[in-house]
Amino acid sequence: MVLASPRPDFNEEQAVGLADASFGVLADSSRNLGSERDQTFLLLAPDAVPVAVMKVSNAAEDPAILDMEALAVLHIGRVDPELPVAVPRAAPDSSAPQDPTTRRVAVEGDGGTHWVRIYDVLPGGARTEASELSDEAIIAWGETSARLTRALRGFFHPSMQRTMPWDVQHALTCRPMLADVRDPELRGIVADVLDRFEEVVIPVWPSLRAQAVHGDLTLDNVLLDERGFISGIIDFGDMSHSALAADLAPVLDSLAVGRQGVELYRAARLLLDGYQRVTPLEPVELDLLGDLWAARCAVTVAISSWRSARGLEDADFAERYNPVSLATLETFLATGWQALPAELGGAGMRVPDADLVVRRSQVMGPALEALSYEAPIQMVSARGVWMTDVDDVTYLDAYNNVPCVGHTHPRVVEAIARQARVLNTNMRYLHTSVVELAERLVAECGGDLDTVMFVNSGSEANDLAWRMAVAFTGNTGGLCTDFAYHGISEPIAALSPECWGPEGKPTHVETWMPQDHYRGEHLGTEDFAAALENLSLRGLAPAATILDGVVTSDGFRDLDPTHVQALVRMTREAGGLWIADEVQGGHGRTGDAMWSYQRTGIQPDFVTLGKPMGNGHPVAAVITRREIAEQFARGTVFFSTFGGNPVSVAAAHAVLDVLADEHVLPRTQAAGDALRHAVRHLKETFPVIGDVRGMGLANGIELVTDPTSKEPHPRLASAVKEGMRQRQVLVGTCGRHGNVLKVRPPLAFTVEEVPQFVDALCGSLSDSIDA
Ligand code: PMP
Repeated sequence: MVLASPRPDFNEEQAVGLADASFGVLADSSRNLGSERDQTFLLLAPDAVPVAVMKVSNAAEDPAILDMEALAVLHIGRVDPELPVAVPRAAPDSSAPQDPTTRRVAVEGDGGTHWVRIYDVLPGGARTEASELSDEAIIAWGETSARLTRALRGFFHPSMQRTMPWDVQHALTCRPMLADVRDPELRGIVADVLDRFEEVVIPVWPSLRAQAVHGDLTLDNVLLDERGFISGIIDFGDMSHSALAADLAPVLDSLAVGRQGVELYRAARLLLDGYQRVTPLEPVELDLLGDLWAARCAVTVAISSWRSARGLEDADFAERYNPVSLATLETFLATGWQALPAELGGAGMRVPDADLVVRRSQVMGPALEALSYEAPIQMVSARGVWMTDVDDVTYLDAYNNVPCVGHTHPRVVEAIARQARVLNTNMRYLHTSVVELAERLVAECGGDLDTVMFVNSGSEANDLAWRMAVAFTGNTGGLCTDFAYHGISEPIAALSPECWGPEGKPTHVETWMPQDHYRGEHLGTEDFAAALENLSLRGLAPAATILDGVVTSDGFRDLDPTHVQALVRMTREAGGLWIADEVQGGHGRTGDAMWSYQRTGIQPDFVTLGKPMGNGHPVAAVITRREIAEQFARGTVFFSTFGGNPVSVAAAHAVLDVLADEHVLPRTQAAGDALRHAVRHLKETFPVIGDVRGMGLANGIELVTDPTSKEPHPRLASAVKEGMRQRQVLVGTCGRHGNVLKVRPPLAFTVEEVPQFVDALCGSLSDSIDA
C-alpha cells in the first residue's frame, strides 16, 4: 500500500537532473515542496523564476492510478475548461497526447521505479491559512468544489475503485491504526466516531450518489489568488469512486483550521451555499455531512498517528492537523449528533417539541385561530393524501384542499425549486411564463373574462375584486351568504360573517341564507331579495355579491344553477357585480368543472383564485373584464410585489399541468361519488348522519341529534372529528353550528382511500355516540 511505503528520497540537486533526463526540462535548482507519500519539487531557473513543477511518485504507486489522474484532468478540461486544474505534460517525444502513459516517465531510485510527471506552474500562492479566507473566498471554494465534482460526473476509470483510507467510505479500515493514537482521550473520541459511522453511515452508504471524486480539495492541494479564490488545483492523488457528499468532508475539514464553535458552522454553511449554487445536495446528503466530516477527522488522526509511529513521516508534520480534528470533534460533541445536521443545513431527526404549544401562543398571540384537535399535531412531512407527524404516525388527509394535486407533488416542487434557482423577480420586468399563465387562466374561464391580476392570497384577490367593484359601480353595499368566509383584509372581513365580532354585521353588508335542500329551506330568492331591500332601505346599492361556489363555511351547499343565475340577475339589476370566489371550489375541486361557477352557467364579473392555485405556494389571482380593469386604472395603479413572481407562476403552471396530465377532474368526481355513496350507506346504522352532500371532493356530512328534528349536533361533530384523528384520518367541521364534518381532501384522494375514511368515520361515530 502506498501509505505504508516510504516517500521517494531524491534531493533537490537530483531533482534537477531527473527533470532534464525525463522531460528535458532545464532548471538551475529546485525546491522540495513536501508531500505525504510522493515528492514534489518546484523547478527554478537561474534567477529563481519557477519553470515547472515535478512530481516523483512513490515506488509503490500503481502506474494505472497515475493514468487515471491524467485522464481525469483531461476530462475536466473538456467539461469545464475554466477550472484551473494542473495537467501533466506529455513527454517531449510523445505523438499521442491523449494516451496517459505518455505523461509519465520512469526513473530508477533506491526504492525502485518512480514515475516522474511535469506540470506547468499555475498562478497563485500555496498554503494559505483557512482562517485567513474571506467569506467570499469560502463561498467560492464551495462553488469550485462543486464544479470540480460536476466535471468529474461522467468520468470513469477502473482504478477509481480502490481502498483509500483517506476516503471516508473506508474509514473503518483505520480502526487498527487507533492503537497508535497516543492521547487516550483523542483515541476514545475517534473510536466512538468510527463506531457511530458504522452504525449510522454505513447502512445508508449504498443509497448515496456516487461518482469519481477528487477526494482532497483542501487548501493543501490548491493555489489561491490574492483574493483567496482558487487559481490552481494541483493534486489528484486521492481520486476515487466515492459518495458525492463524502467529497465535501475533506473540504469542510480543511476549513476548520483556526475555526471552532459557531464560527466553524457559519463558515461551513457559507461553503455549502457556494457548493449548492452549482449542485444542490439531497436531504440525506445534508443530514449526513456532519457524520462524514467527523469521519474525516477520525481518519486524519488515525492515519497520521499510524504513519508517524512507523517513522514514515516526521511526527510534527504528519500530526499537524490532529489538534484541529480534536477541536472539530469536540465542537460536534458539544452540539450533539442529533442537532448537528441542522447546523449544516440538514433537517436531521425531528423530535417532538414539548413546549411548542405554549411558545407558539406566547409569541403569536391570541388572535391566531386555535390549533386543530385537542392534541395538536406536529406534522413533519406529507405526500399525496398522506401526512406524517413527528411521532411517525401517518394520517389520511381528508381535510386540506390547498395541496390541490397532492402534498409535495414532485411536479410542483421541482417547478418551484428550478425557477427559484434561476430567477425570482417582480412584474416590472418582462417574463414569459406569467403572461402565459394569464393566457391560460383566461382560456379556462372563457366568456368575456379577459384580464388577469396576480396577488398572493385569496384575501388579496377578493380585496382587489371588491375595490374594482366599488370603483366600477360607484356603489358601496356588499352581499354574502349567512356564514361566509372570504378573507382577512378589512373590506373582506366585512364580507366574512364567520369572523364577525360582537359588533356583528357592518352597515354596508347584508347576508342571505344559502339554499338548504336537506331542510327544504331558503330554496327561493326571497332571502336574497330581502337582503337587497335592506341595503336599499339604508340608501345603499350593492357594489358586489360574493359567493364561494361550494359554500364551504355555511356547511357546503349544492346550489341550483337556476337559483344562482337568478341571484346574479338580481345583483346586476340592483347595480352590482358578481364575484365568483373560487378559492375553495376552483382548480377542479367539484370534479365537473375547473371553476365551480361554471357548473351553474353564470358569467361572473370577477373570478378570484387562491389556495390550490400553487398547491401550497402562495399565489392568487383576479380574473375580470377589461372595462372593469380600465375603470380601476383610472383611479389608481396596481402593483403587488410578489404578485405574479416567476416562482409562484411556475407553481401555478405546474398545478394546471398536473390537473390535465393526471385527469384529476374525472378522478375527483369518481372519488367524491364513491365517498358520498359509502357514507350515505351509514345513515341506516347512524341516524345522526342527517345529510351527506357535496360536489366532487367538497363534501359536508351534517350531524344532527335525530333525523326528525334535524337539530344540529355540533358536540357530536367535534367528537367525531377528534375520534377520526385518533384513527388517523383528518377532517374538520364547518357550518354556522359547527355540526358539519368538512371533508375536503387534496385531489390526490381517490376511491382507494374511501374504505379507510369510512372505517374511521364508523369507528368514531360508534365511540362518540356511546360516550
Ligand atoms: N375565500 C374563501 C372561500 C376561503 O375559504 C378563503 C380561506 N379559507 C379565502 C377566501 C381567503 O384566502 P386566504 O386565506 O388565502 O387569504
